[in-house]
Amino acid sequence: MKLLYEGKAKKLFAGPDTGTVIQYFKDDATAFNAQKKDTLIGKGILNNYISSCIFEALNQTDIPHHFIRQLSDREQLVKEVQIIPIEVIVRKVAAGSICKRLGLKEGEPLANTLIEFCLKDDSLGDPIISREHIEVMQLADEFEMDAMTSMAYRVTDFLTGLFSMMQIQLIDFKIEFGRLNSVGGFHEVILADEISPDNCRLWDMKTNEKLDKDRFRRDLGGLIESYTDIANRMSLKLPELKAEL
Ligand code: UDP
Repeated sequence: MKLLYEGKAKKLFAGPDTGTVIQYFKDDATAFNAQKKDTLIGKGILNNYISSCIFEALNQTDIPHHFIRQLSDREQLVKEVQIIPIEVIVRKVAAGSICKRLGLKEGEPLANTLIEFCLKDDSLGDPIISREHIEVMQLADEFEMDAMTSMAYRVTDFLTGLFSMMQIQLIDFKIEFGRLNSVGGFHEVILADEISPDNCRLWDMKTNEKLDKDRFRRDLGGLIESYTDIANRMSLKLPELKAEL
């Protein structure tokens, strides 16, 4: 397979048909702009199963997305898009960087769902940016920003419901969007990347136990157990969690 791109947690390979790409989920974990690194055996498998299940569930809505189907334990077939270099962060409860930035207390519910945009640029540490910055830097146009914002709210409602059925509280998450080229030169903005405990904060509703990547960021241990717990609550039939070949 032809490698197109290698990121921190995934590799992208050319897909079997034009306009398709294969997303391969690695076991690498990074945090704090890749200053902290480790390999957690089976994390890629868990994220592939969890993200595939969430994107499949999104088919119950009319939110457009890139997911076509899961191909194997670590791979999924997706539509090829041009990723918009903006990380869209949605917050319902204060946690992580917003606590450091604004002095909010972790676990404090926010009055409204908050959407933040960050520039997707590791060399700059993914800085938070405003719509005006996005406009000046020509990262996305007004139509695309509106589309991303309205889809982010709809994804939030959908994920909140999905996780609450599993007794999990959605605290915050990061999503990315891509431009899908279609006939006639017009393009559609669709949800891309992954939705997994690597980019969501998920707390057990009863105990507030963290079931997400904060287990790695904060050296809490038990990340694989927590991700497996989420997969089990989703009733996923998991394979044996083996190291990458
Ligand atoms: N997030 C992510 N990738 C990033 C930055 C953030 O997936 O590069 C997710 C993170 O997992 C959390 C949410 O976005 O669910 C908000 O993250 P935050 O800004 O608090 O950053 P962090 O605490 O990771 O520095």
